[in-house]
Amino acid sequence: MIEASEGRGERADDVEQRDVVIVGAGVSGLATAHFLRNQGVDGVLLIEGEEQAGGTIQTRQLDGFLFEPGPNSMLDNSPAMKRLIGQLGLDDRVAVAADAAKKRYIVRDGRLQPLPMSPPSLIKSRLFSWGTKLRLAREPFVSAAPADAEETLEQFVLRRLGREFLQYAIDPFVAGTFAGRPEDLCVRTAFRRLWDLEQHHGSLIRGAMQLAKQRKAAAKAAGNASGDEGEIQAGPSGKMLSFEGGLQTLIQSLATPCRENLRTSLAYLGVRRSDFGYRVTSMDVDGAHEIDARVVLLTLPAHTYPSLEFDDINMPLDEIGAIPYPPVTAVFFGYHQRPTEEPLDGFGFLTPRLESRRILGTLWNSVGFPDRAPEGGLAMTTYVGGMRQPENTQWSDEEMVDVVFEELRDLMGIQLRPDVVAVHRWTRAIPQYVMGHRQLMEKVDAAEVEAPGLFIGGNFRGGISLGDCVTRSEELAEQIATFLRD
Ligand SMILES: Cc1cc2nc3c(=O)[nH]c(=O)nc-3n(C[C@H](O)[C@H](O)[C@H](O)COP(=O)(O)OP(=O)(O)OC[C@H]3O[C@@H](n4cnc5c(N)ncnc54)[C@H](O)[C@@H]3O)c2cc1C
Repeated sequence: MIEASEGRGERADDVEQRDVVIVGAGVSGLATAHFLRNQGVDGVLLIEGEEQAGGTIQTRQLDGFLFEPGPNSMLDNSPAMKRLIGQLGLDDRVAVAADAAKKRYIVRDGRLQPLPMSPPSLIKSRLFSWGTKLRLAREPFVSAAPADAEETLEQFVLRRLGREFLQYAIDPFVAGTFAGRPEDLCVRTAFRRLWDLEQHHGSLIRGAMQLAKQRKAAAKAAGNASGDEGEIQAGPSGKMLSFEGGLQTLIQSLATPCRENLRTSLAYLGVRRSDFGYRVTSMDVDGAHEIDARVVLLTLPAHTYPSLEFDDINMPLDEIGAIPYPPVTAVFFGYHQRPTEEPLDGFGFLTPRLESRRILGTLWNSVGFPDRAPEGGLAMTTYVGGMRQPENTQWSDEEMVDVVFEELRDLMGIQLRPDVVAVHRWTRAIPQYVMGHRQLMEKVDAAEVEAPGLFIGGNFRGGISLGDCVTRSEELAEQIATFLRD
């Protein structure tokens, strides 16, 4: 058994005691441990099943290239993430995506078309017909749905913005974020900000404009003369951030102070009530181990729940376990020299389903973050599968690389084979907030109320983006610290 760190109280029956045990050392678990330390709660024990912390965040060095099969950047829209970066002293290491990567492309009729980001570019855009452009202009006059209406993202967008916008903006966007489909996702839980805009402002366009105005005024009042709030940009025109050396930099900064209290290669099995609070059982190569904790926070993927034990706790395990997670394969291509004469002036491109491509989209990683490739080179990551085409993830590595090459040849005119290739398979990539998700989360809330001191976190609650995970971690740390104080 790995030695108990910091010599925290061992009882006569040899069961170690901790105030807080966090299970799962992805960004959610690590960030909560950090925020707890800020709240004066030390000695939080982290249990992680894998050999390394980080969860979905992984950064690999490949012959001078940097490949991130999971998340590669984050939208600059989370004040909690901004605070975390500042508290970790990482401000100097933040990498803001280069201006060259500002555009996003969508495939239409087999060609890459820029997604319009402003009213003038919308008018000129070839991505949408005049009918859709007029429809967008009418959006502020579409009445809001009742607050208790349950709608899929597809229903919401059809009602407010029309079919072509759904097909050529929302469908590819959802493939690029959730690896999902608009007809599956619940707008209220998966795209809470959109739902809020409609509910509170009656219109997405009017709401976005009002919020931008308010933020500008607030930034000015706070002494930022330009009125550029430097922090929050809602929507796809927001700045994309990462770090020098990739997102691993964030994980290292979070994990280093926890080193003494981070136990890796230790699989959590379950929890039951004990006199102390909860008894946590986990297992490593040496066998089973038990720890008593006043607070237990789980930040595990939902699909692991049916195999966990919750003795005497009424957790809807099978329902949590039924949250869909599509498979996604990330295929990396590295070129020492740019393989195309075309100017690559964007973050990458996404494919709408109507275009019948075999890939979901491709990120031009080194356009936004030049250190992702050696000078003069190009790093790209293409995603295959998702809810749209899970069967495509069955291809062998060789087939996968051939398909990606053919698609990039058709869409980007690339003729040269890559110098460096990597394939990473996520068998269960991202939780889908499908219809009924909100009601399921209410059952989880109720289970938490019945089991004071047991907290359920992770990316199937409160949002899948890194910013959302960190926002929730900050809230959880606050709740846990309050619980320990009371
Ligand atoms: C392919 C892909 C691309 C993405 N791209 C982006 C992006 O560009 N930007 C963005 O903002 N977000 C992106 N996301 C989403 C984001 O990465 C995740 O939502 C976030 O990293 C989840 O963090 P987490 O800590 O909640 O969960 P995880 O990272 O899944 O961490 C959970 C941890 O629990 C551990 N664990 C599991 N079972 C056990 C057990 N029994 N015992 C102990 N430990 C266990 C796991 O090993 C893991 O370390 C992407 C996700 C994927 C899959």
